[in-house]
Amino acid sequence: MTAITYEHIKTCKQTGARLGKVHTPHGSFDTPAFMPVGTLATVKTMSPEELKDMNANIILSNTYHLWLRPGHDIIEEAGGLHQFMNWDGAILTDSGGFQVFSLSDMRDIKEEGVHFRNHLSGEKLFLSPEKAVTIQNSLGSDIMMAFDECPPYPASHDYMKSSVERTSRWAERCLKAHERPFDQGLFGIIQGGEYEDLRKQSAEDLVSLDFPGYAIGGLSVGEPKDIMNRMLEFTTPLIPSDKPRYLMGVGSPDSLVDGAIRGIDMFDCVLPTRIARNGTCMTSNGRLVVRNAKYARDFSPLDENCDCHVCRNYTRAYIRHLVKCNETFGFRLTTYHNLYFLLKLMEQVRTAISEDRLGDFKEAFFEQYGFNKENAKNF
Ligand SMILES: [Zn+2]
Repeated sequence: MTAITYEHIKTCKQTGARLGKVHTPHGSFDTPAFMPVGTLATVKTMSPEELKDMNANIILSNTYHLWLRPGHDIIEEAGGLHQFMNWDGAILTDSGGFQVFSLSDMRDIKEEGVHFRNHLSGEKLFLSPEKAVTIQNSLGSDIMMAFDECPPYPASHDYMKSSVERTSRWAERCLKAHERPFDQGLFGIIQGGEYEDLRKQSAEDLVSLDFPGYAIGGLSVGEPKDIMNRMLEFTTPLIPSDKPRYLMGVGSPDSLVDGAIRGIDMFDCVLPTRIARNGTCMTSNGRLVVRNAKYARDFSPLDENCDCHVCRNYTRAYIRHLVKCNETFGFRLTTYHNLYFLLKLMEQVRTAISEDRLGDFKEAFFEQYGFNKENAKNF
């Protein structure tokens, strides 16, 4: 009995994208799915009720941040992360590895784990595969991630090879340390950067360990988009088709559609919430920087084609005013709209897969968003 199962519903005849459902101890979610990121046990500025309202059925939270603040022992004492933050949907936690590698410049990678300094206090800390799993067992997330190394782009073939091999040894240690396989599913993470032979080696190592799901890591770390798409095309067929496939850290609208076309089921990214707090919105007609002066007297909604409660009730002029004045409510409105926009996009992607027309959908969506234009912005 595994905690996480994948139900395949249909493959798009036009593109090969997969329509499915992932079942977890805290409900099911339809795939391809986008997961909003709630780093510190909150999707910044959103209440769990608002997330439910926009049909988010799974969110992501960050092990590293919760380990430091408030501490996983406090969350365990509260009855686990779901209870602590009053969220009864599914939760995925990462392993903390990515933050250790990206936030801390003082780190020492050893076979036993990584020694580094707390990015807040400078205190010396140590994270290992066993520790990352123990913390996630305390948090009680539905989907946990194995502790891996995510080398920056570009990395040499030699370095990447030794890193991939260590990540495989760490994955095995994570499985051994996992104490709650009956109600928490542990996913393995395929690394290998831009090297096909190493992606293959990593996938084979991890598939032989029989995880309930697999992530593709080490993409969207600064490499050109065509490398990402090529690596996805190469790697997804190496993952057993009865297991969910998760592309980590990807959330621009074009990459979500391109990832789905290459057989990805799950995505997460801070992009929609981070740019929202900057006054930038995703709309069906492309990126809209609502703080710009030209919207001062614009009394139309953020996106005329969006039916979210923000677009039904508030104007660009009002939201611009709030954002310019650093009013919290302004950031709540832009965050709500951006998340709704991506969740709705995934719903449209799923409908297009069910009707075998995701290729046509992509063409129309990219054209209207402006991804086909020269010098198109990434999001
Ligand atoms: Zn909207």
